[in-house]
Amino acid sequence: MSAPPDPQPLYLDHAATSPPRREVLEAVWPYLTRVTANPSSAHAAGREAREALEQAREVVAGVLGARPGEVVFTGGGTEADNLAVTGIARAAPRGRHVVVSAVEHPAVLETALALRAEGFRVDVVGVDGDGVLDLEALRRTVTGGTTLVSVMYANNEVGTVQPLAEVAEVCRDRGVPLHTDAVQAAGSLPLDVDALGVDALSASAHKFGGLRGAGFLHVRGALALEPVLHGGGQERGRRSGTVDVASAVGTAVALHLAEAAREEESRRLAGLRDRLVAGVLAAVPGARLTGHPVRRLPHHASFCFPGVGGETVLAELEALGVTCSSGSACAAGSEDASHVLLACGLDADTARTAVRLTLGRTTTEEDVERVVDLVPRAVGLARA
Ligand code: PLP
Repeated sequence: MSAPPDPQPLYLDHAATSPPRREVLEAVWPYLTRVTANPSSAHAAGREAREALEQAREVVAGVLGARPGEVVFTGGGTEADNLAVTGIARAAPRGRHVVVSAVEHPAVLETALALRAEGFRVDVVGVDGDGVLDLEALRRTVTGGTTLVSVMYANNEVGTVQPLAEVAEVCRDRGVPLHTDAVQAAGSLPLDVDALGVDALSASAHKFGGLRGAGFLHVRGALALEPVLHGGGQERGRRSGTVDVASAVGTAVALHLAEAAREEESRRLAGLRDRLVAGVLAAVPGARLTGHPVRRLPHHASFCFPGVGGETVLAELEALGVTCSSGSACAAGSEDASHVLLACGLDADTARTAVRLTLGRTTTEEDVERVVDLVPRAVGLARA
């Protein structure tokens, strides 16, 4: 009798990227094969492409509770963040002061820091040990002269969900626009921009079942935005370049499906995440959860396993058939300790032991039981 086949590798890196939904691939296909005209062209084929693009925009706007004209399709989350931070700051009529949190993704943090070269003052507000923004420090830092505040909705490395309502109140009181990077939250948390109290929101399609290299920025109609890409004036002058209709259609389909399933799926994933966290903390000596224990993304579990490098644990896990990451796909392989974990007060050695396991649509209870069994083995092998 032959040995049973090895089980499929278990993919637990959905925060890095989640596979596109089948429905998205089906919806996109006609726009790669049949409706392929430039949506800015005046002819009938162009009009057909434009109609699909505008329909996609309406669907996205519907999920955000926004007007379609407030949605700008971009080539992903990084571009949306760059456009928001640079575009709003440069267009602002007053102040040259940008405030961001210390745990922002580099797409926001580095963009804000780059504004220093243009004479902006950039303040970085810290977080507590769970990665939650220091609201008192925010209140002290943001003034009536501040140009823009950018605070992410939920963190990619430690999963902490920020107190956005309180941040919005601080900004509203001082008349300062608020941008949020909702790249990790989209698909898991509510996105109604009025309820959130934000003036601009960025998202990335590949985190909620759309295509990589696709995303959008929402910007309130009243808020001026200077384009970063200059050219033919597409997207109402806010993002030049021939719009990728297929990607926009895919983004709309993915967001619509994710929103329809969101509450039930988030409940299911939160249950699995809690089982995973409890199982790992119970079985791995010295293990600690990073990020907030409760106010965290439903699909996100992140740990430090003191005494053993995160990359070594990842290699052992991979050999045992589990694919995951150390925290941020962008920083993978880097020797530098994560700026997020350092901001949470971890020392650099502990920060280098980070391992992140993020669940998705395809993750089952059996998968979680398997990983609860394998993580202690991987850490044990790595420590040995
Ligand atoms: N912001 C956050 C919080 C992210 O997690 C990511 C990607 O992981 C990005 C921005 C960048 O998005 P994209 O990969 O679409 O450029």
